Amino acid sequence: MLLEVKTDVKSLIDVCKDYWQLNDQGSFTYTVREIADKHSMEAHVVSNLVSKHAYVSFEDICCGSCQVPYHLTSRSEYKSRNLYTDTICQTCSDAEKQALINKKLSIIESIKSAVLSDQKDTQQLTLKDIVFLASAIQALGHDNLSQLTSLADNPSCTLSPESASDRMILRHLIDQRLSWISGSTPLTSIRIQDDDVFNLDLANCCLEIPFQSSDLMILIDKFSIEKYQKEFKQSEEFFHVCSEVQLFECLAFLKYTLSEHQLHFSPGDKTQLAMSQCLRYFSIAQTYSLIWRAVKDSAAYYMRGGIGKRQAANSVVGNISRNMEKALANNWDVMPFRRNYKLPQSTISQLLFNTVLGTDDGGFHYKLSDLKSLDSDISTQPLASR
Ligand SMILES: [Zn+2]
Repeated sequence: MLLEVKTDVKSLIDVCKDYWQLNDQGSFTYTVREIADKHSMEAHVVSNLVSKHAYVSFEDICCGSCQVPYHLTSRSEYKSRNLYTDTICQTCSDAEKQALINKKLSIIESIKSAVLSDQKDTQQLTLKDIVFLASAIQALGHDNLSQLTSLADNPSCTLSPESASDRMILRHLIDQRLSWISGSTPLTSIRIQDDDVFNLDLANCCLEIPFQSSDLMILIDKFSIEKYQKEFKQSEEFFHVCSEVQLFECLAFLKYTLSEHQLHFSPGDKTQLAMSQCLRYFSIAQTYSLIWRAVKDSAAYYMRGGIGKRQAANSVVGNISRNMEKALANNWDVMPFRRNYKLPQSTISQLLFNTVLGTDDGGFHYKLSDLKSLDSDISTQPLASR
């Protein structure tokens, strides 16, 4: 044990020495009361005086990082010295925090410089890029168009049918170098794992778009101009994006309906496949009906005690496929559902199905194959009568 006394006053030095004196068994030689009596002072004054004027340190009670011994200023700290095992000192902890902040700032900076060093022209963007960019700006854009607020700051935002597809769109914008993470993004949104791999909490990311507002205005306006609408309608890529949005619409309804029955599961490839098959033959409105019935059946099975919650949720996908096959085999007229008010039409759906295809939420009411055969001459006629 090393005792450091920070005073020249002899009487104080003696008090500190008595306070920290240990016997051969490693326990304190004097009680605080004995020290108080010996030096003619109140007992409660002793500890205060000692902690103010002295500290002890032990080589093996030290910071796990810099190995500098901790300064113990009271007997209670000494008694609980085991608590210091595997800890680091304030200086090292501050340095670690600062290093983490610097690392996150450099990640943000590297994403930004990657975007700026490979800056594209709006003319070079793919159709998917343009659709995602325009929808994100319409849903989350500031007035200057080139900054996007975070999804978390816009809880009522309906960029796409569900939160997973919202994040997928933002991820696409970052990965395709169509945006970088703005300085107003909280650093907690970047989570660094081992090996310098990092995760982005996309819901909390604010984004900056590397194009002039005037270019973005032209880009968004394209969706309303007949010449470009014709180009979109002739593009396979356009209808591929439409089908992705329809798929997400069904997944959103599946999650919603499951949660209404207190059943939860995260849809995987099998679910996506089942939904895509339904959408080949039915509209979303009709697919909702197949989903609703399948969830109801699985929930009833669970309520009868036949299966566990997880099994019930997993059985839904099989039920949807079976319902679809039955409906097709028997030529059933599957009754379309109405849009659920908790799942309103999203910005991206409006852009594709209303603005470009000229329907009123046609992505919900009609099969994609019916929408594909729409051409501008007859798009004003109601689809159902065709
Ligand atoms: Zn340290």
